[in-house]
Amino acid sequence: MAKGQAAPDEVIERLEQQKELYVRTLRNTTVELETKIQELGVLRQMGHLFARSTRLADVCAHALPMLLQSSGAEQASLMLLGKGTGELALVAAAGSADGRVRFYGVEGYAERMFRVGEGLAGACVEDGEALLAEDAALHPRFAPRPTRTKLGSVAVLPLAVLDEPLGVVNLSHSAPRSLDGRRLPVWSILASYLAIAVSHSLLFQELRQANRRLEERVRGRTRSLEAANEELQGTRAQLARHAELLSERVQERTRELEQAVEELTVQRAQLEVANRAKDEFLNNINHELKTPLNAIIGYAGLLLKHAGPSLAPEHRDDLELVEANGKHLQLLLENIFSLKDVEAGAVELDRAAVDLNDLLRAAVASVRPRAREKGLELTFEPLDVPPVVVDATLVRRVLFNLLDNAVKFSDRGRIAVRSRVSPLNLDDPAETPGGSAQACAVVEVEDQGRGIRPEDRDRIFLKFHQVESATRKSEGGSGLGLTIAKNLVELHGGRIWVTSQPGVGSTFRFGLPLGS
Ligand code: ADP
Repeated sequence: MAKGQAAPDEVIERLEQQKELYVRTLRNTTVELETKIQELGVLRQMGHLFARSTRLADVCAHALPMLLQSSGAEQASLMLLGKGTGELALVAAAGSADGRVRFYGVEGYAERMFRVGEGLAGACVEDGEALLAEDAALHPRFAPRPTRTKLGSVAVLPLAVLDEPLGVVNLSHSAPRSLDGRRLPVWSILASYLAIAVSHSLLFQELRQANRRLEERVRGRTRSLEAANEELQGTRAQLARHAELLSERVQERTRELEQAVEELTVQRAQLEVANRAKDEFLNNINHELKTPLNAIIGYAGLLLKHAGPSLAPEHRDDLELVEANGKHLQLLLENIFSLKDVEAGAVELDRAAVDLNDLLRAAVASVRPRAREKGLELTFEPLDVPPVVVDATLVRRVLFNLLDNAVKFSDRGRIAVRSRVSPLNLDDPAETPGGSAQACAVVEVEDQGRGIRPEDRDRIFLKFHQVESATRKSEGGSGLGLTIAKNLVELHGGRIWVTSQPGVGSTFRFGLPLGS
């Protein structure tokens, strides 16, 4: 054996040692390769799952068991930063013992909160870097919390998207130094996958909530629209019912009206017949009364004229009374039979210049016997009045009516008749005449009879209006005298009015425009 040559046993031993080293290194490399392959598999699986999961609960349900499996940790949990609160809340946790994943909702578990900077999780968010505490209790940032989980070693991985912190993932083991720090970069990659999945699911959740709110609003709008529609239908139905009812009523009313019209037509026909019969009857009566009345007045007048001076005064008075009463009756008949024409304005004026005082004198003379019989004084005071252009017959009728009333409604005292020329406000003759006054011949018949109450003063000029009184019956009359007098005066463009005081007397005046 040459010098410096190793003995064969030594060589063999060295070779054996080298072989053992190779085998060990190979085994280690194989284990490492298997781990890497397994990690790559986890990463691929995670990528697939996250791409399909849109709910945070599903993301947690997949991610936490994978993290447990690939890290060898006993506990894995996800904490999220509350919006605007600056606090980390526990959202989901999983344990390797039972393999269950507990999900506490997006808001998190209220009793497990960490402020940013507080504890290991808070420190991780604050620094934005993964953190490994081989023995948690000895770590300077450790903040003890009452918890059932025994903390030996802890790894905290930050979750962030586009540099915005989202939260953290906690991996823990009850025994110190049980997490392999060399694998921290791989877990961090898993955490960055998880961050994207969490951010997606949060966005989806916001979208879902917005969608739900929108749907709720749409449902609310639909409900109120439906309610409005229902109300509208109700109102429409009500309206239809009202319309139906109305139409029924209208039909009913129309039927009633048609019936009434029919009845009225019949009644009108009957009335026309009756009216014709009445006119005929009145004409007959008029004729029957007029002729003997004219004869009585005529004979009485004749007798008075020819035999008057030779008659005893009492007989002459009687005869005058017969004549006066005859004229009174004649006036009554004229009033009755001329009313229709006077009211219709169908009376034609036969105007001529007359001396008003002559008319007054004659009228006064014709009522004198009746005044004398009642013990009334009758005076006439004519003033200078120029001739008036009037229908003498009609003005005489006005005078007779006023004098007849004065005698009729007086039981004592004096009846004074006067005439004069005076300016008159034709719009309101009782007023003191103003600028629009017109020169008129004014006649005044004043009595000291029973008078007229203020409330009756306008009504007495209405057709058939007679003021009720205890003596009414004995006074007689038709209630037409003043109506006729008013119409006739107005036909001449004049006005008639009265002033009176109950129990003292009345003064009737009428004015006829001069120069017409
Ligand atoms: P008549 O005299 O026929 O009743 P008039 O139309 O002439 O009808 O008069 C209507 C009413 O006016 C009379 O019923 C009476 O009440 C009242 N009247 C008329 N003139 C006088 C008068 N001079 N004094 C009191 N009342 C009068």
